[in-house]
Amino acid sequence: MKYVLVSGGVISGIGKGLIASSTGLLLKTIGLKILTAIKIDPYLNVDAGTMAPTEHGECFVLDDGGEVDLDLGNYERYLNVTLTREHSITTGKIYQHVIERERKGDYLGKTVQVVPHITNGIQEWIEKVARIPVDDTNEEPDVCIIELGGTVGDIESAPFIEAMRQLRRRAGRDNFCQIHVSLVPVVGGEQKTKPTQQAIRDARSAGLSPDLIACRCQERIVEATANKIAMFCQVEPSQVIAVHDVESTYHVPLLLQKQGLVDQIRELFRLDTSSIPQALVKKGEATWHDWNALTTSQERFLESETINIALVGKYTNLHDSYLSVSKSLEHSAMACHRKLKTVWIDASNLEKATLEASPESYHKAWHDLCTADGVLVPGGFGHRGTEGMIAAANWARTKPKPYLGICLGMQLAVIEYARNVCGMKSAGSIELDAQTDNPVVIFMPEIDKTTMGGNMRLGLRATNFQDGTEWSRLRKLYNNQPSILERHRHRYEVNPEYIERLSEAGLNFIGKDDKGERMEIVELKDHPFFVGVQFHPEYLSRVLRPSPPYLGFIAASAGLLQQATAATLAKAASANGKGNHTGQTNGVDNGLVNGMSQVSLSDSTSGF
Ligand code: GLN
Repeated sequence: MKYVLVSGGVISGIGKGLIASSTGLLLKTIGLKILTAIKIDPYLNVDAGTMAPTEHGECFVLDDGGEVDLDLGNYERYLNVTLTREHSITTGKIYQHVIERERKGDYLGKTVQVVPHITNGIQEWIEKVARIPVDDTNEEPDVCIIELGGTVGDIESAPFIEAMRQLRRRAGRDNFCQIHVSLVPVVGGEQKTKPTQQAIRDARSAGLSPDLIACRCQERIVEATANKIAMFCQVEPSQVIAVHDVESTYHVPLLLQKQGLVDQIRELFRLDTSSIPQALVKKGEATWHDWNALTTSQERFLESETINIALVGKYTNLHDSYLSVSKSLEHSAMACHRKLKTVWIDASNLEKATLEASPESYHKAWHDLCTADGVLVPGGFGHRGTEGMIAAANWARTKPKPYLGICLGMQLAVIEYARNVCGMKSAGSIELDAQTDNPVVIFMPEIDKTTMGGNMRLGLRATNFQDGTEWSRLRKLYNNQPSILERHRHRYEVNPEYIERLSEAGLNFIGKDDKGERMEIVELKDHPFFVGVQFHPEYLSRVLRPSPPYLGFIAASAGLLQQATAATLAKAASANGKGNHTGQTNGVDNGLVNGMSQVSLSDSTSGF
């Protein structure tokens, strides 16, 4: 097992996660078979499930229901792997593990301490988890990227730093390398190297020895700056990797590649690439070719090819709160050959109360909504902004404009329909109003109804398309598979008691769970695209394998879905596309989008 540690200095939030994922992607391109990734978050929370998205960005959900840091989403997307909750390590988790062992008597007679018990616990965890197969080959990975959150020098990361120092020795020569991500601020037009010098000094005094220094800078780093860093940090100029701000995050791997990152790591690991089987080398090259072709094509889209998507949410101040949603929109927009413009609308600004308090915000929000090509209401929790989201769903349904409701966005679309089509004026959700007369959305935990903790429906679950739903566009986009697997994260569901009334009024519940009790997908028939899904398809979207609901939504917003001929849809339905790790296929793989927009993605061989 070879490890690449990605750590940070100066400040956090400067793209360590992206550099880690991009490094992984690059290593894949030289034919390394399987890469895996572990994220260390030195906070005390056991997982990210209870953390505010407005502070930490979205909570990413894995197949196994693990609620983890959004960086694991980046790894899954860039490395095309399926990770487990064990790939996310927090201080809380490690302490819980060590304390449980202490209670069981595993350390009987010993004083349990940070060093060696916590530090050993961290290393053992990493060594075990790095070996978990993460793709359908079911083989042990070759390389594990470890990203250490926060910055070296933080009090809370100290045990992890010490564990990393020891892991380097344990892994042995040629099996461990470290990339330290630092910041080069520009002050008065001058690129400053002092913070980086200090960051390297801090890392070294903690016993770490970074092999490569990735310098983040708002502008291109000039040679003199790189040389100065090399000189003062006692490294070769080639070990200084300059990472300036780029237009699209998809360009970061290109930037790293240009500076020879792969060769550097190859050398550090003394990798004998001649022993890599030709088939894998070819696959790696194809991955690289596809990545280049797709991500550089983005700039060539014309302004006239822009589609405006209104994202009507609650956490719009921090766009990372909806990272996977944004990424999924991007994947689909690239597939449809359109430039994506996401218009962020704070849902409460669409509400009447805002008209009084801040007419400007109200009118701006409505202007943004009215001029959008499609409306997306993502997942969320709690009451704030939900009336605004219902108004957005109503707008999209009646205009009609393409609508995609994710989880809460589906629940609210159902409430809107109940209120305005079925005449149940007080229809609501128990989550938002416990006293509602018409509880169209109710609490339906899988296990225990009495406790609030641990009762979320989490992870991969099946949705079965119902008989008589062959007309469904979404079903066709899922390649007409009878059953699909998507990830979930919710407590509430559409109330089964209202299904008959809603269905009779024209709201089609086309997908249900295995027992037929839980409503998973709603779709309107006579509408350009009006879909609500109880699951979160964004967690499985990939650059070259856009998620079907997002793809349909973007295609409809671009006016392409309506144009899709019966023949194209039929082709999509019958073709035998390539599957992802959950056995799903979609319209991109089998040519639906090719037929619509003439972009050719179907012959991609890389599968990322
Ligand atoms: N709050 C809703 C529920 O718990 C929706 C959750 C979500 O959108 N992820 O069911």
